[in-house]
Amino acid sequence: RHTMSTLLVTGAAGFIGSNFVRYWRTRHPEDAVVALDALTYAGCRENLADVADRVTFVHGDIRDQELVESVLREHSVDVVVNFAAESHNSLAIIRPGEFFATNVMGTQTLLEAARTVGVARFHQISTCEVYGDMDLNDPGAFTEDSPYLPRTPYNAAKAGGDHAVRAYGFTYNLPVTITNCSNNYGPYQFPEKVIPLFVTRALQGESLPMYASTTNRREWLHVMDHCRAIDAVLDRGRLGETYHVGSGVEADIETIADTVLAELGLPASLKTIVPDRPSHDRRYLLDSTKLRTELGWTPLIDFAEGMRSTIAWYKENEAWWRPLLGRSPVSETAWTS
Ligand code: NAD
Repeated sequence: RHTMSTLLVTGAAGFIGSNFVRYWRTRHPEDAVVALDALTYAGCRENLADVADRVTFVHGDIRDQELVESVLREHSVDVVVNFAAESHNSLAIIRPGEFFATNVMGTQTLLEAARTVGVARFHQISTCEVYGDMDLNDPGAFTEDSPYLPRTPYNAAKAGGDHAVRAYGFTYNLPVTITNCSNNYGPYQFPEKVIPLFVTRALQGESLPMYASTTNRREWLHVMDHCRAIDAVLDRGRLGETYHVGSGVEADIETIADTVLAELGLPASLKTIVPDRPSHDRRYLLDSTKLRTELGWTPLIDFAEGMRSTIAWYKENEAWWRPLLGRSPVSETAWTS
């Protein structure tokens, strides 16, 4: 498959999409990459600056079927990887319509274009959050067979997109795969998300706003381990299957704040409490046994080490994040996910 493939990567100017394009150019230099992105407030053309000369960038919307079809044909795309989404849970509470428009209808439009033109693979990037709230004391973890029980507009819209992907697989035999991943962290994450928010605020001597439910926790995975998992599923995942991607490493929000402050040598007094977000899920934890045993994937980046290198990256790349401050439609000190 890796000989002369052409990938269409949607949402390629976002956090995970841009890391994936960079990863793919390094790991599979023989492949061509078409990077499509609508460049919403969260999309940064600069995220692809260092790979620009080896990647075709198309400024466009996944809801534009005609454009997507012409891109698929013109570049003879064989693999579509769909990262494009509205991704900020807090913004979804304020503007739910945009989330359903892109995450559900955008995904369906992209599927329709792929079905019309024909592709060898349609891979959907999804999230642990579609499974909904998990008890902090639950000894189990979500498996690929757990029911989808989303409780926020972002999560419900991602769930809707995933259902459309499965429906196209069953109904039209479109060769689909899905990965549901836990919380990602790493370079190029938009500073509205909690780790870059805390790091960039700390670097400016500002407070770290924690939701009142400070013991809510997430499972954290470095974005490069996520990219390697997607590669494994594209390479040897079974068609029609879903694979969970998780590290098993959980940390609550206060631990994240403490880690950032300790790494930067700043006082704990910078931690502040802000009101909780509505329907803020307490926890998600994925069972990623299937990906590990069937495809031989395992995360390589230790959480403490990954956090150190990520914090260092933001410290060294103020020129990247400073122009992005204030660009998120959500206040930086309330409802930050
Ligand atoms: P992001 O917000 O950084 O990037 C999303 C990108 O999609 C942006 O560049 C944006 O401009 C683009 N986009 C939005 N609407 C579009 C449209 N209609 N057409 C074309 N492009 C559009 O988000 P991210 O964190 O990189 O997430 C990428 C994907 O991974 C999403 O599907 C998200 O649900 C999923 N995911 C994210 C995480 C995480 O922790 N960040 C975890 C699991 C899954």
